Amino acid sequence: GDRVGVLALQGDFREHVQILQRLGVEPVEVRRPEELEDLAGLIIPGGESTTIGKLMLENGLLDAVRSYYYRNGKVWGTCAGMVLLASATTGPPQPLIALMNALVERNGFGRQVHSFERELDVKGFDEPFPGVFIRAPFFEEVGPGVEVLSEVQGRIVAAAGERVLATAFHPELTDDTRFHEYFLQEVCGI
Ligand code: GLN
Repeated sequence: GDRVGVLALQGDFREHVQILQRLGVEPVEVRRPEELEDLAGLIIPGGESTTIGKLMLENGLLDAVRSYYYRNGKVWGTCAGMVLLASATTGPPQPLIALMNALVERNGFGRQVHSFERELDVKGFDEPFPGVFIRAPFFEEVGPGVEVLSEVQGRIVAAAGERVLATAFHPELTDDTRFHEYFLQEVCGI
């Protein structure tokens, strides 16, 4: 069967694991570079992007995830995961995986309002998706090769690049599995 990894260093990885199980794929909790082998896809969860980035660096996973990606791997980041996928941040320097040509505002929505929910229009989805935002980032700019999938107040909250997906919100904290199915089917090709 297909195995899909969830980076399990910090953050809400368990919720992603549970949804993957519900969708019938085998979840793999990734804490070491070897655990990236033969994965059909990899999810970087929400949490604290600075903490996750430092732990990735210490565990050799920053380079390992880049190698995984450049060897045809598929990656999806939610919230802190979206921050880590950006190539640059507007804030202080922090370790980034940097797989997407995008500038991220790390606590973009956080300064105004800690968390909120919003029905989102998402490109390719027939019905709105329930967006759960918690100290959420947004992409301030995306470069060539990155397609905007959803925006809130002109801010980019979902985007896709080549084999890579980013969402500022948390589909794993809802009962709606469409984003996970989208990643598995459209990005991973499962
Ligand atoms: N803004 C947070 C960060 O950059 C992410 C918050 C979250 O994942 N819920 O780490």
